[in-house]
Amino acid sequence: MTQDAGSPQVRTGGMLDRSTAAWIALVSGVVLTLVLWHYVGEHLEDRTRDRFDNHAALARDNLLSRAQAYEQVLHGGAALFAASEVVSRAEWAAYVASLHLERSLPGIQGTGFTIVLPPARLEAHVAAVRAEGFPDYTVHPPGYRDPYSSIVYLEPFDGRNRRAFGYDMYSEPVRREAMERARDTGMAALSGRVTLVQEFGPEVQPGFLIYVPVYAKATPVDNVEQRRAALLGYVYAPFRAHDMMQAIFRDDLRDADIELHDLHESPQTLLYASAERNPAAHYVVTHAVEVAGRNWVVRFASTPAFEAGHASAEPALILYGGSALSVMLFAVMHSNARHRRRMRAAALHLARSRDEFRTLVENVPGVVFRCAIEAPWKVMHISRGITLLTGATPEEFMSGRVTFGDFILQEDVPSIVAAIENARACHANYEVEYRMRGRDRRIHWVSERGRVAVDVEDKPLRLDGVIIDVTERKTAEEAIRNLAFIDTLTQLPNRRFLLDRLRQGLANARRHGRHGALLFIDIDHFKRVNDTYGHEAGDQLLSEIAARLRQAVREGDTVARLGGDEFVVMLEDLGETAPEAADKATLIADKILTDLNAPYELGTVRHRSTPSIGIACFDGAEERAEDLLRRADEAMYRAKAGGRNRLETQQIS
Ligand code: GH3
Ligand code: MG
Repeated sequence: MTQDAGSPQVRTGGMLDRSTAAWIALVSGVVLTLVLWHYVGEHLEDRTRDRFDNHAALARDNLLSRAQAYEQVLHGGAALFAASEVVSRAEWAAYVASLHLERSLPGIQGTGFTIVLPPARLEAHVAAVRAEGFPDYTVHPPGYRDPYSSIVYLEPFDGRNRRAFGYDMYSEPVRREAMERARDTGMAALSGRVTLVQEFGPEVQPGFLIYVPVYAKATPVDNVEQRRAALLGYVYAPFRAHDMMQAIFRDDLRDADIELHDLHESPQTLLYASAERNPAAHYVVTHAVEVAGRNWVVRFASTPAFEAGHASAEPALILYGGSALSVMLFAVMHSNARHRRRMRAAALHLARSRDEFRTLVENVPGVVFRCAIEAPWKVMHISRGITLLTGATPEEFMSGRVTFGDFILQEDVPSIVAAIENARACHANYEVEYRMRGRDRRIHWVSERGRVAVDVEDKPLRLDGVIIDVTERKTAEEAIRNLAFIDTLTQLPNRRFLLDRLRQGLANARRHGRHGALLFIDIDHFKRVNDTYGHEAGDQLLSEIAARLRQAVREGDTVARLGGDEFVVMLEDLGETAPEAADKATLIADKILTDLNAPYELGTVRHRSTPSIGIACFDGAEERAEDLLRRADEAMYRAKAGGRNRLETQQIS
């Protein structure tokens, strides 16, 4: 198998990046959403604030123009006094009625004239008004003052306004301040907050007044002194703040709560509030407006109706939508990262399994291989065990420098080819035993089991298999097999083996027309050796005789022990004619006789022994091995009978 079984590497860097990227995407998404949400919210907020500010500015302008209109009315009244020496009550009533103020400028409580009187003229004045048909007329509050003022005309001259009839507005500091300012400037002057004398009942509301000075006709009024000297009285208008502002702001109150303060914002200066102050109002804007020489502060606060009307779902949509998208993106990226992490883990697991498998394969006794299907079986993969068998490394095999064919014994190749061919035809596994010769020239018996791997079209691709060294087993088998054919004392083939060899020898002689001979050898008086020196000495003698017999003949000749003290030598290929073979056999038998006559060292004893030898020649004619053996045996008996230690030849009968 392969040698590159390095430990697998885990690359977790990319994984961390992907996971981090998911988090970065989430955080960026959320941040982007928040920024967008904030920006759009701000934008909408600004737009709504602009709208509200415009709205407030329009309402303020409306207030200003209405105040200017009131001033104009009063200036008109003043002009009336300037035009005629005396303005009668009826003329005043007619002038005011002609203006239709309740329609054109609603909110004005009345339009009046107050006369300014030095104390000296008070009595005459009261008398004159009483003479007009108002017997209860008096200038009030009572007391001495210089000068007095008195409201003489106030249209509409209804119940509420009648309460002001004869009232001296100089007696009250707030009114007096405005009156004197009007007198000194010659301009309209707005008063501070007052409670009108007309007020009564539960619905008392704050009020204010606007004064326009009336000067004596044809009198210079170029400076303060002249104006003071020329002052006759004031055309003025009292206003109930709530009524007036309701009328002015009627159309604005859906969107804004409006407060009107005198001079500055405080509970004490509050002239008008369209509703209870809502501390949660989102948009608040205040405007300072100058009306008739005095400052008002108008506060506009958005109503819930305005805020609801301009609320937009966009920011919420961005916030929730953006967050949801970020989370979804995160989920997708995160699960992707997790998926890849799992894939990596699986790959790592696989790599480990593969390495474990490789280790396992490397540790399997024997050789695991994959090779080409045809001889000489070029190797694709092979495990280290092959080196033990061949001396060649797996690298040499896998690089193609050597193949199986270089090591398999040539005579074994056909059986391997046949086994593979058979397995391929039967779609079965094959098993074959053969020999390999390693570089050290040692021969190993191996057992190979394998299978032919095929492709989808059943085309053979390669061989996968295992080779195991079975040399030891083979040797053991050989030993067992030999036990049946070999005589353990002399290591010579036994009778069974001899008969086999005889049959072969006869067949060979027949096939090749060659003659051979069989020598039957029996030791003379062997029993005496046993009896004299003991059985072990007998054994020793038998072994020595066997050794001498083997030395006496050629390599190809067969020496066997039939049993007891009987030996057989088969001599093959002795010649083409019977006499020739007989001569040669006799020569060899003679030599054996001589060799066996030589003294034997049995332990401490020197012993002499002789054999009787029977010779039977053969030419392979129809004859059984047993018959040949019997003939040689008979010849030997004749040698015994003839006096022992001699040869006797048995001709073919
Ligand atoms: P002869 O000259 O007639 O052949 O006389 P002999 O004493 O050799 O008689 P024979 O051949 O009939 O007897 C062979 C003897 O060899 C019989 C037996 O006691 C002895 N013998 C047989 N096998 C063994 C053996 O394995 N070892 C030993 N020590 N003696 C054996
Ligand atoms: Mg004998």
